[in-house]
Amino acid sequence: MKKLGLHIQIFIGLVAGLIFAMLSIRLGWSTTFTVNYIKPFGTIFLNSLKMIAVPLIFASLIIGITNIEDITKLSRIGGKTFFIYTTTTILAVILGLTIANLARPGQIISEQTRDRLMSLYGDQAEQHGDVLQQINQGGPLQFLIELIPENLFKALSDNFHLLQVVVVAITLGIALLKIPLRKSKPVILFFEGLNDAIIELIRFIMQLAPLGVFALVASLLIEVAGGNSPSEILEILFALLWYIATVILGLLLLTYVIYPIILKLFTKIGYTHFFKSIQPAQLIAFTTSSSSAALSVTMEQVEKHLGVSEDICSFVLPLGATVNMDGTALYQGVAIVFIAQALGINLSISAQLMIVANVAISSIGVASVPGAAMITTTMILQSIGIPAVGLALILAPDRILDMCRTATNITGDALVAVLIGSSEGELTEMTNEQLLETG
Ligand code: ASP
Repeated sequence: MKKLGLHIQIFIGLVAGLIFAMLSIRLGWSTTFTVNYIKPFGTIFLNSLKMIAVPLIFASLIIGITNIEDITKLSRIGGKTFFIYTTTTILAVILGLTIANLARPGQIISEQTRDRLMSLYGDQAEQHGDVLQQINQGGPLQFLIELIPENLFKALSDNFHLLQVVVVAITLGIALLKIPLRKSKPVILFFEGLNDAIIELIRFIMQLAPLGVFALVASLLIEVAGGNSPSEILEILFALLWYIATVILGLLLLTYVIYPIILKLFTKIGYTHFFKSIQPAQLIAFTTSSSSAALSVTMEQVEKHLGVSEDICSFVLPLGATVNMDGTALYQGVAIVFIAQALGINLSISAQLMIVANVAISSIGVASVPGAAMITTTMILQSIGIPAVGLALILAPDRILDMCRTATNITGDALVAVLIGSSEGELTEMTNEQLLETG
């Protein structure tokens, strides 16, 4: 019997997790069983993916850069990558703002819901404000200081400093190109070996994917339901339905309409082939809400199934997972307009242009972990004069929207890898057999 494709297996895991959680909530099963015996498999899977994120980003960026060899080619690819990442992020936030201005989700929620959300989530919103205040204490150039770790090993030791890891990897890669080959070769070989071993590790980890995804989805839903009655949660989500629908509609439009148009204009890769190839990565991003946890799968799929050369993948994708967040940018556009509308604040065109600039710049600093966008959203709210406590209005559905925007984030990264691969002539023509295999 033909083995089911990975994306189908993961999808089955996801649906099974959903059904299990619904049954468990409906029938009032004890959550202890899920927490003690199901959740651990999700945690093991998630930790395994997180465990390889830092070494993968570090090693693959270094070999990506050193394999490109020629500094001129490197700056050309770097320039293109930067340009496309910035353009697609700006496009995403403009789309988010446009949809939110048309759908007006903030004008639909009642005053009663607004007050209820403020009282339920006000404290949580304030906590985000406090974190932001700590960050702001450093002055306007603090973000530049944050780019350089005072201790490389400290930066490598947690998943919150990926931007620092990226900066060090890029500069180290360039430095390796500048020293004599006799000296750089052993270092490069070390990272190549490490990178290959990590790719092998990913294969082991992915065997766990269907079970891991099942456990993650089941435990997440059951925990979200937590002490609250499902009807209470549903009631809140229902009150915010128009807002949730606006974000999801925007993400679907960006992912399945705008990206394919760009794909069609600049590459020969077909719609079905592209989406079938990246589906496993989208599902992992969706369930983990973390672009960096999904990075290993994104790299594997883009290289093996979309035929983008290893050099381009190793450079573009780790960078994208850390700095390119189109889904998050679109989400922030909608969320900020929603909060402003709900609080009765009128956003002028210049305020909205400021949102575009702020989102595009700050999305670079959004860590690729669950819920990371909340801090930068607080920052942008404050910068355009909206009370940060307005964040309370969007916290309830954040996790589910985080899952959706993270799937878009990694799709955007894959798209850019394909665009760069195609423009550099480093896209393998797939044979019909290979195309069938990817299905
Ligand atoms: N969870 C997102 C990611 O990892 C970041 C965010 O939007 O909060 O890409």
